[in-house]
Amino acid sequence: MASMIQLPKGTRDILPDEMHKWYHVEEVVRRLCEDFGYKEIRTPVFESTDLFVRGVGDTTDIVQKEMFTMVDAGGRSLTLRPEGTSPVVRAVLENSLYALPMPLKLYYNPLTCYRAEKPQAGRQREFHQFGVELFGAATPAADAEVILVAFELFSRFGLADRLLLKLNSIGCPVCRAQYREALLSYLEGHRAALCDTCRQRMDKNPMRVFDCKSEICQGIATGAPLITDYLCGDCRAHFEALQQTLLALKIPFEVDPTIVRGLDYYRRTVFEFVSGDIGAQATVCGGGRYDGLVEELGGDPLPGIGFGLGIERLIMSLDSAGYAFPPLPGVTVYVGMTDASLDVLTTKLVTDLRRAGISTEKDIVGRSVKAQMKYAGKLGVRYALIIGQNEVETGLVTVKDMQGGEPFEARLDSLAQALLERIQAQ
Ligand code: ATP
Ligand code: MG
Repeated sequence: MASMIQLPKGTRDILPDEMHKWYHVEEVVRRLCEDFGYKEIRTPVFESTDLFVRGVGDTTDIVQKEMFTMVDAGGRSLTLRPEGTSPVVRAVLENSLYALPMPLKLYYNPLTCYRAEKPQAGRQREFHQFGVELFGAATPAADAEVILVAFELFSRFGLADRLLLKLNSIGCPVCRAQYREALLSYLEGHRAALCDTCRQRMDKNPMRVFDCKSEICQGIATGAPLITDYLCGDCRAHFEALQQTLLALKIPFEVDPTIVRGLDYYRRTVFEFVSGDIGAQATVCGGGRYDGLVEELGGDPLPGIGFGLGIERLIMSLDSAGYAFPPLPGVTVYVGMTDASLDVLTTKLVTDLRRAGISTEKDIVGRSVKAQMKYAGKLGVRYALIIGQNEVETGLVTVKDMQGGEPFEARLDSLAQALLERIQAQ
């Protein structure tokens, strides 16, 4: 026997028996985005590597160690997208979407993302994100709207009380420059104890120490100066206004000055929604304002804010909250036959039923009548019928109600009609 080939590490199959969860999440997300006026965008699975080096930032974990990069036959370096924001910005620039009336409100769902990370519960190498990106509005009201999209999603799923919104402002290039000095001189004093990565990235991106997973670095970060003490007047006013709006909307939050986000391009508002229910990988949604990104990727200045929300972590949160996902509708009718000579006739019959919108299966295995009925039972159909020579001659068939109702007689030439009436009457 040939040896079996297994899934690549960190990937998983989504099997038919869990698909109802994905369909449901997709449907709720689509409805939510329509309610907020966001339009869907789909971008390629791979992009030029440079897009992520510039768009995510070369001091980030993503660019330094998590990218799946390949070289194509033409010698071009391509990377499987690790996130959705920079591809969307590229698409906005490439398709001149910035010329549309502002604000430009886009979403993606579900977007497969690829990161070469150590797989563990809640952390895969291929995973899915729902995300929104809002361009052309630099106001605190725009920040509040984006946060509200995520909050409203959690509310619609009954999860709002089970997630904590953590909020921070990481300032702008003006105030961050001063903060950087203060942070650097603090970190200098701990240089020897920092992990290699933090030490190497200290000059370019000292704030990454807050995102570092090493316990020693986390300890050092606890005593570090906080960005919130260094915000300039404009950034402070922006952050204040956002908090006032969230308070007025009764969206609970906690200011956490250690939330800096992994990605380099964030400005001012950053936020995360953290779950208490799903173990160590607890951040379900992360986002923030990235006013400098469009310029970084070659466009004219255009403010932007968005978030990425991990669908696997969302489904984990829903499962642990005991959420009742609606099941997918099963097959409604089974059409059996007494012998294979009736194959064409029964195929035509089921085609009529399917066109009438009745989900129907027929025998294609060549089973005995008894085995066909047993299979119909396993399928869980509501109605089953068997076509034989007798039915063909009389033009009548007895339909069995598999859920205990009385059997009834129907004409073969108007079977779809008869079944539809029964189904609608249920
Ligand atoms: P983490 O700190 O967990 O590594 P991150 O900051 O790298 O998260 P983002 O880049 O902000 O994550 O991605 C947004 C969301 O996507 C995360 O909040 C999470 O729900 C999900 N996510 C990120 N990486 C993974 C992964 N490897 N597997 C599954 N979900 C992920
Ligand atoms: Mg990560």
